[in-house]
Amino acid sequence: MAKNVQAIRGMHDILPSQTPLWQLLEDRVRNVLERYGYREIRMPLVEQTELFKRSIGEVTDIVEKEMYTFDDRNGDSLTLRPEGTAGCVRAGIENGLLYNQVQRLWYQGPMFRHERPQKGRYRQFQQIGVEAFGMAGPDIDLELILITHRIWQTLGLSDGLELQINSLGTADERLVYRELLVEYLSSYLDQLDEESRRRLKGNPLRILDSKNPDMRELIAGAPALMDHLGEESQAHFDAICAGLDAVGVVYVINPRLVRGLDYYARTVFEWVTDRLGAQGTVCAGGRYDGLVEQLGGRATTAVGFAVGVERLVALLEEAGIEPEEQVDAYLVLMGDEPQRQGLLLAERLRDQLPGLRLLTHCGGGGFKSQFKKADRSGARFALILGEDELAKGVVGVKNLREQTEQQEIALDQLAEFFKKNEENGI
Ligand code: ATP
Ligand code: MG
Repeated sequence: MAKNVQAIRGMHDILPSQTPLWQLLEDRVRNVLERYGYREIRMPLVEQTELFKRSIGEVTDIVEKEMYTFDDRNGDSLTLRPEGTAGCVRAGIENGLLYNQVQRLWYQGPMFRHERPQKGRYRQFQQIGVEAFGMAGPDIDLELILITHRIWQTLGLSDGLELQINSLGTADERLVYRELLVEYLSSYLDQLDEESRRRLKGNPLRILDSKNPDMRELIAGAPALMDHLGEESQAHFDAICAGLDAVGVVYVINPRLVRGLDYYARTVFEWVTDRLGAQGTVCAGGRYDGLVEQLGGRATTAVGFAVGVERLVALLEEAGIEPEEQVDAYLVLMGDEPQRQGLLLAERLRDQLPGLRLLTHCGGGGFKSQFKKADRSGARFALILGEDELAKGVVGVKNLREQTEQQEIALDQLAEFFKKNEENGI
């Protein structure tokens, strides 16, 4: 027998049993974003490779080893997007959304990185991204953090997540700090792992982000950028902290937080949990004032964040959050005429009750097998229409989730029955 073709490693189907939780999450996040006045933007999944090289940075995990890059039939080098910010900025510049304007944007969709697949780390994964353009002050940084905080609240996840923040200063401030860091790290050259040694020249700040536990102690002893901020960067950072204090959002200042991408400046933040093992960051963001200009637009300040949806879904699962059942009623149809009449009844009910989730049995079969299917569908009620019921002008209604007697309800009272149930929150 021919071998079945399987999905690509690290790329997963999200099955019908899982989508309700995804939809719950997506609905709530979208709702929060709308309440803050953010508008959705949709970008292509594929961009020119150049875009990511220029924005994310050549000496980063993503560009060095994680991108899905290929030549298309014209010989152009294209890349499946590893993240959304670069494409969003490209779209903003190209469509004239940025210069001299304020934009609050969000997007959602798959990202692609050739990483080693493991729990919480996949090769195709979903992000919900938010980007705010044209606002320089700490107020918008604060707004974004408050949005993330409200998202966790609406999902019932506030307890398990810790907010970590840091400032990376400006490019100039980083340059000065970079020298101090290189000086420090160079004096421990023998303790650096191979990757860090390579980064010492290209991108020494990224060494602080190393995931190698052997490097932890060395990194902990390194000078902190936080101690070398200029006056404005310090004031920017202090204002965010003051705002978080005022609203009562708890945070931890983590001077080692650097983020994997090159384009950040000043504010960076992450929301971290200890409930998901090694892959504990569910949301990461920061300010990237230089990027728009770096990609050819006019200088525009910007700040954003991205949520890793798989990790958030895992947290929801871990918290035992279950979306409500998907089906309200299952219509069991016994006999030819009931089948014809049942179709009309179902359509009439759908006209009358736009909120009703009604499954009509298709494919015939005996009463027992239909009833079993009704039960398995997760429906609360089975509606039974046979020759007898039709003759009497009623429908049999059986609550599948409670031990109550089956009742008969007149055909023209059925809509009323569901309305009452809905009012009673059943
Ligand atoms: P990590 O340090 O875990 O590799 P990152 O710094 O590469 O994360 P970002 O580029 O900031 O991650 O992406 C934002 C969020 O997207 C992460 O915090 C995480 O929740 C999620 N994410 C990133 N890479 C993956 C992946 N390969 N699989 C699943 N989720 C991911
Ligand atoms: Mg990564």
